[in-house]
Amino acid sequence: MPTPTDAPEPMHDAATELLAANGHRYTAARRIIVTALGRADAPLTIPQLLAADGRLVQSSTYRNVVILEEAGAVSRVVTPDDHARFELDERLTHHHHHHLICTDCGDVGDFELAAPVERLLQAEFGRAGRAATFRIERHRIDLLGTCATCS
Ligand SMILES: [Zn+2]
Ligand SMILES: [Zn+2]
Repeated sequence: MPTPTDAPEPMHDAATELLAANGHRYTAARRIIVTALGRADAPLTIPQLLAADGRLVQSSTYRNVVILEEAGAVSRVVTPDDHARFELDERLTHHHHHHLICTDCGDVGDFELAAPVERLLQAEFGRAGRAATFRIERHRIDLLGTCATCS
């Protein structure tokens, strides 16, 4: 049942479609995961995700996240530490952003580039892709460095 803090319905519709295309159902647990990731202001580790909603069960959550990831509803933020972090994919959020990744503690923050900068990057990436006969789906630009706590 949707709660006031539930993710917007089009987001759930998109997740339903992506999972169906991969032969999976959008179960209640997967809906809770999408809602929790949608509420978070940064990518979450599995322990953080479990802490975000007490209804999530440790034994099935990782597998559900991987199923959501394989369907394209959730994406994994690659960090240098051992903890995988997950966030809603842009196919759900329609919101393009980048990451600040701390190479000491693995902390991840989000940031956006100004629209003209993104357009310029898209044009440059398009040029690079065409030169290599490479079909670009999307790009990722993450910054590596040291967070305020670690520096
Ligand atoms: Zn740090
Ligand atoms: Zn992010």
